[in-house]
Amino acid sequence: MLLKNASIWYQEQIHHGHVVVNEVTGLIERISLSKTFGISSEDSVIDLKGKLIIPSLVDIHCHLRDFEESHKETYETGALAAAAGGFTTIFDMPNKINPINSSKSLKKVVEKADLIQSCEIIPYILLNRDTEASLISNHPYAKAYLGKTTGNYITDVSDVAIFLTQSSGVIAVHCEDNNRINSNLKKFHPTLENHGKIRDSQTELLAIENLLEATEDIVTKGKLHIAHVTLLKSINILHSKAISFEVTPHHLFLNNGDLSQLGVKGKMNPPLRSKLEQKKMLEAFLQNQIPLIGTDHAPHTIQEKEDLELAGVPGLETCLPLLLDHCKPLDVRKLNIIIQVLAINPRALMNLSEKGIIAANEPANLTVIDRKKIKVVRGEDLKTKCKWSPWEGYELQGWPVLTIRKGKVTYSEL
Ligand SMILES: [Zn+2]
Repeated sequence: MLLKNASIWYQEQIHHGHVVVNEVTGLIERISLSKTFGISSEDSVIDLKGKLIIPSLVDIHCHLRDFEESHKETYETGALAAAAGGFTTIFDMPNKINPINSSKSLKKVVEKADLIQSCEIIPYILLNRDTEASLISNHPYAKAYLGKTTGNYITDVSDVAIFLTQSSGVIAVHCEDNNRINSNLKKFHPTLENHGKIRDSQTELLAIENLLEATEDIVTKGKLHIAHVTLLKSINILHSKAISFEVTPHHLFLNNGDLSQLGVKGKMNPPLRSKLEQKKMLEAFLQNQIPLIGTDHAPHTIQEKEDLELAGVPGLETCLPLLLDHCKPLDVRKLNIIIQVLAINPRALMNLSEKGIIAANEPANLTVIDRKKIKVVRGEDLKTKCKWSPWEGYELQGWPVLTIRKGKVTYSEL
């Protein structure tokens, strides 16, 4: 396959040229940076007319539901949403109704994930006292919850410290202090309006501080990673200790002032913060202080959101457009940041064999962006089964229009 007449992100610069993808090996065969390509022997030629090829994206934080919750999302629909969002690998969180904490439950999700073509799905295991011991040492991706959230599988910081000595993989931690949540629940009724007060900023800071204290003096084999950080203070603490973390698109592009319009569609854990905090987070992003973005794609049906006020929002398909729109006009400095947080750093953290660069003999995992394309977010247009978005009605400029995984097209709007 020849992708001709493209802009190519190559060696951290934007060049004009052409990319040849070998559909049999799934690798990038050749990159040509000349104006013309000459005669091509390729069967399939796509004229990109200047659209930009970047490395495909990796999302380390998704909830793909399926199994007992297939009415919200299945691996098939989640993978299609991922491909439409420019992703070729996504990591599925383990807090399902039947949690992924035994070899039997892991085998079930791996078998299902292996059938999916449009995106690679890699499962996390759940860490708590019920987790099968061999899984902790053998499976490289694990998630621990310090605060109650969907599924309510709580672990305390001392257990996370022990798990870090047993696992040589990545342990992602949901940092909200459960004691503080419980004591806040005595002060505030659990209404939608009080959600941000019950899970206030201190809830996050306390959990992070306790976790860092508990893990400071131990010799860890595993890598600690903090999920969905929402505060500049947390970012500064984690940078000072050189701990990995991610930020979600909703904490970058929404704030609690949006709740009057969003209602329960703006409910998630941790909750949206103030407009000022959101501004600080966006500044941190543009100053390259955020190492990773994870969507925390967490679909529920609209009915469930309204009736049960469940926490979580979908985000796979809107993540890249939100960033591109915010970064317009897209200069190479801002593009480099986007590629770092969504392509290079997630692969490095998760120790994937590919690096997230465009070069000959690298896997042909590519996303093509139309920087000029303007589209309004409409839930009904999304591939996610839940068919709604907290950014409904947003007009965004810059969209992925073609996703290629292992040399095969997984999504195309061309
Ligand atoms: Zn999550």
